[in-house]
Amino acid sequence: MIGIIFNPKTNKGTSVDRMKHILTVLDEKGVEYIYRESEYAGHSIVLAKELAEQCDILVPSGGDGTVFEVVNGALDADVTFFPLPMGSGNDVCRSLDLQGRTDEELVDILLARKECDYDYWLLNNKYAMLILLSFGIVTDITYRFSIKKDTVKTGYYSTLLKAILTSKPKRYIVKTDSGEREYFADFVSLQNLNISGGGMNICPDALKDDSVLDLVVVNHKNPLRKFLNMLALNSGKLPSQPNVVTERITFAEITPLSGNEMYCLDGELASTEKAVIRMGKKKLRFIQH
Ligand SMILES: [Mg+2]
Repeated sequence: MIGIIFNPKTNKGTSVDRMKHILTVLDEKGVEYIYRESEYAGHSIVLAKELAEQCDILVPSGGDGTVFEVVNGALDADVTFFPLPMGSGNDVCRSLDLQGRTDEELVDILLARKECDYDYWLLNNKYAMLILLSFGIVTDITYRFSIKKDTVKTGYYSTLLKAILTSKPKRYIVKTDSGEREYFADFVSLQNLNISGGGMNICPDALKDDSVLDLVVVNHKNPLRKFLNMLALNSGKLPSQPNVVTERITFAEITPLSGNEMYCLDGELASTEKAVIRMGKKKLRFIQH
């Protein structure tokens, strides 16, 4: 059985008609499914837990936040995930070559059921992460975009620019497979995917199924360097910048020396005094194109 969990508020409510159409395509093909809509933040975790008892395929339908909730709700269940790209960024869908597909194509891909492995990483033994865990600039950008009024008023690029301009470097102790180091950084990120933030190419080498995480540290130099780094990010060349350190790791401990600091986990914002990240105890299964 297929269990579909739709967040009607995703992408400012603009995906409601698309969801209806996909259900119509499924009906026309005689596909059976259970359909649920989330009603509040965190509700998809509860719905995923329930549906995992009767379904072998779970379909998070929303943005990366919905994928995050559904995966976290059904982490220990024996299910395959097939996310529908209904949000604004859809990084997990991009990693499965699902972004930009028509509704009919998506249904065909679901029914073809070509499965792939997908690593997940556990933060502080609590949350499963699929995309990234980051401190610094990306967190500031995500925070600004989460204040909806600000985004509407100022537009995408000025919001981005404002976040970059006002983001302050901080000190972190980072412990990994190779030892412990202190950084004064604009950005510290652990990448399971090469992309984040709706397709920004942060670390081209990062793969979703290679059992390692890619650490990217952007050491702080000066405002000009910060802009050059942003340009490099656009062309997928951030890791080769002179102030950028990368490492492939299997575990990490990030301690912000400023104390409790905001982080971004797959687009969700929270704060912590220490982030400990380890590989999940199994590989997840996803359907890809
Ligand atoms: Mg990887």
